[in-house]
Amino acid sequence: METIVYLIAIGLTFWAQYKVKGAYLHFSTVPTNNRMNGATVARRILDAKGLYDVPVQMSQNGVLSDHFDPKANTVNLSPKVYNESSIASVAVAAHEVGHAIQYAEKYSFIGLRNTLLPMAIISGHMGWIVAFIGLISGFDAIFYLGLAMLMVIAAFQFITLPIEFDASKRALVNLEEGGFVDLDERADAKSMLSAAAMTYIAAFVATLLQIYRLVLMSNRRR
Ligand SMILES: [Zn+2]
Repeated sequence: METIVYLIAIGLTFWAQYKVKGAYLHFSTVPTNNRMNGATVARRILDAKGLYDVPVQMSQNGVLSDHFDPKANTVNLSPKVYNESSIASVAVAAHEVGHAIQYAEKYSFIGLRNTLLPMAIISGHMGWIVAFIGLISGFDAIFYLGLAMLMVIAAFQFITLPIEFDASKRALVNLEEGGFVDLDERADAKSMLSAAAMTYIAAFVATLLQIYRLVLMSNRRR
């Protein structure tokens, strides 16, 4: 049973990664009608929102490394997203701009996530090790501390979900309002962003499954 739970968790994670890479590869080959690249689209949406001071930078990282950096207040796009005018590029660019807008508007879940962040980082480094030490040594207190840390990770991943969905929702509205996509292209952009959102859902469910597996292992040892 424990092995099955483990395999489902791993399988779910890989499946979501496979789906988002597939969607990205596919929509990278579909150009938008207005032929604006990701960098231009990002710049124009930011300007339309009055966020002139948020730079759009090209990062040298690989595919799907695109992100908004809240500390530097910069939108960082991978070379393909920055330079190309595909559905994938403009969808991802508009999504990252969505995070910049959330940050500027002090979107409620951002504050909540920042509060949890320090604890989530510590838990991310130590949760699994502490839980396993507790399991092997038989010290319940250590095991429960480990479990609590894993639940912090799960809570953090859960709070990330509305933030990601909201950034994608903003992206689609802004792409359409700015005339960067037509109706058909908007549907494609939505498919692309839905596939990306699946990786966040999969990560959350996988953490829950791993917690369940630890509890099963602990029960068996008693
Ligand atoms: Zn995002």
